[in-house]
Amino acid sequence: MKYITTPIYYINDKPHLGHAYTTIAADVLARYYRNRGQKVFFLVGTDEHGLKVQKAAEKEGIEPKAFADKMAALFQETWKKLDVGCDFFIRTTDTAHEKYVKDFATKLYRKGDIYKDTYRGLYCIGCEAYIQDDDLVDGKCLLHNQAPQKIEEDVYFFRLSKYQEHVKKVIETDIFRIEPKERKNEVLGFINQEGGLKDVAISRSKVKWGIPLPWDKEHVFYVWFDALLNYLSALKITGIKAWPPDIQLMAKDVLRFHALLWPAMLSAGEESLPKKIFVHGYFTIEGKKMSKTLGNVIDPLRVAEKYGTGPLRYFLLREFPFGEDGDYSDKNLIKRYNSELADDLGNLLQRTLVMINRFKIKVTKKHREIRLNGIIEDKIEALDFQGALTEINRTIKGANAFIDKEKPWELVDNARKSKEIGLETDEKTRFDEIFVHLISTLHQVAYYLEPFMPREVLEIQRQLKNLKPEPIFPKIKK
Ligand SMILES: [Zn+2]
Repeated sequence: MKYITTPIYYINDKPHLGHAYTTIAADVLARYYRNRGQKVFFLVGTDEHGLKVQKAAEKEGIEPKAFADKMAALFQETWKKLDVGCDFFIRTTDTAHEKYVKDFATKLYRKGDIYKDTYRGLYCIGCEAYIQDDDLVDGKCLLHNQAPQKIEEDVYFFRLSKYQEHVKKVIETDIFRIEPKERKNEVLGFINQEGGLKDVAISRSKVKWGIPLPWDKEHVFYVWFDALLNYLSALKITGIKAWPPDIQLMAKDVLRFHALLWPAMLSAGEESLPKKIFVHGYFTIEGKKMSKTLGNVIDPLRVAEKYGTGPLRYFLLREFPFGEDGDYSDKNLIKRYNSELADDLGNLLQRTLVMINRFKIKVTKKHREIRLNGIIEDKIEALDFQGALTEINRTIKGANAFIDKEKPWELVDNARKSKEIGLETDEKTRFDEIFVHLISTLHQVAYYLEPFMPREVLEIQRQLKNLKPEPIFPKIKK
């Protein structure tokens, strides 16, 4: 069983391109493994507690739960429209999840890994996190450009410091693998800094919208403590045996929670650790940081409606390496679409089908045999989606060049002329070989593109079956 997760997304705002990027990448992996006949459990969901959600609900004048229901539905609908086929959608307001969090915390409390103390410090609502003086610029949170609240309250702490050496060891030895390497080094650097890891506050008494601590109803769990446990509670809820996760995908902003707090919590709870976490980069939009203030936040559904779901998914993973920062622009999407989907893939499908009809090729089992390609598979499994798509495109370009070189229509003419003067030729064999190659290449390309563009590949497969060519990627005028 391959267990694949995305972070559960915080519902104070609607899904944007960054959410879509992580989720589509995870979906590609899940589909790839399913196509290979492996069992997969692919989990997505929403993180629904905390002060930011409470405030967003207040702003709309509705109850937090009603707000959460609305936003969770929006996320679910978005993933459906983007062809994300998850196996389960977890919500942290699910009572079974809440019970799991309580039971897990009680275990830690009983063994002394959770204790009460006074917290004096700063809290950024934007981050939903206690923050340090070092994180401030001109007294403001760097990420949210707002001054944090000064807080002094009795809260419960989790003994993160106790697990510091253990966490460090599992990261260093890749028992708990963090990729890419720069991210692993960043996390180790953070552990090794002066003072090391401090215990973290995991409860709030002033926040109402959260899971109450079972032994102290005046407190609710800090939203991250609650949220991280979704990866375990989802298995409890579904009854699926998939622990530990094979791969957890995320963006840089949630790395520290997943790389430090998470393995320490799991060790305290005596659970085995995820095998790998993979951290991808951020987007800029036409060279600028994506932000609400700049008004350039991209709604993935708008892009999908305009250019197609498959082309959006293809572009996001094709344009720059997964794991590095990159840029989004409609202009580059159109360029990629016109050259690689319309000119290369669409053209190959079209001209092959036209020739099959014109030359009355009888398509048999041998034409439909899929040749596996180890290069593509290695790249997808290494999360080098760009590399995999480059290889697929190379195959498509190669098949188009093959048609140009072999000129099957000339073979047909030659064969007819030879027949007229009564000569035996080997041109028919060559002719057969050409079409076995072309048609099986199209089947191979469809097989490897399915995880990236499921809806469009279904259409390609339909045409390969019916042998009726129809334009599938009409060119976009700039
Ligand atoms: Zn902040």
